[in-house]
Amino acid sequence: MRSRYSAFCLGDIDYLQVTLHPNRRRKDDKVELENTVQRTNWLGLKIIAHQPGLEEATVEFVAFFNGQPFEQLHEFSRFKKVAGQWLYTDGDVLPAIKLSRNDSCFCNSKKKFKKCHGKDL
Ligand SMILES: [Zn+2]
Repeated sequence: MRSRYSAFCLGDIDYLQVTLHPNRRRKDDKVELENTVQRTNWLGLKIIAHQPGLEEATVEFVAFFNGQPFEQLHEFSRFKKVAGQWLYTDGDVLPAIKLSRNDSCFCNSKKKFKKCHGKDL
């Protein structure tokens, strides 16, 4: 999951395609991924829960992106291990999480949220 997030940040479309479960692959994946990568400036990742397993795993995360105001993707994702490689199978988008003003900001600035990306909220 972290490696897919990194690949989104770096625009590594090939890796994103390879780590997509074969049942999920579509002809227009590459174009869609390219659009996503171009439109999106990733700011940070927060892992909320991780349920590891031998062959299946789930991760609940929030990815923060774009600028001021920022946007977030809160998702519960499912992965399957196929031939030693974790593949993304599907996920459910969940409601946005509420961020606490005194927590450190998701963007790793080391500033409090209220003094960083939360300052206009
Ligand atoms: Zn910030």
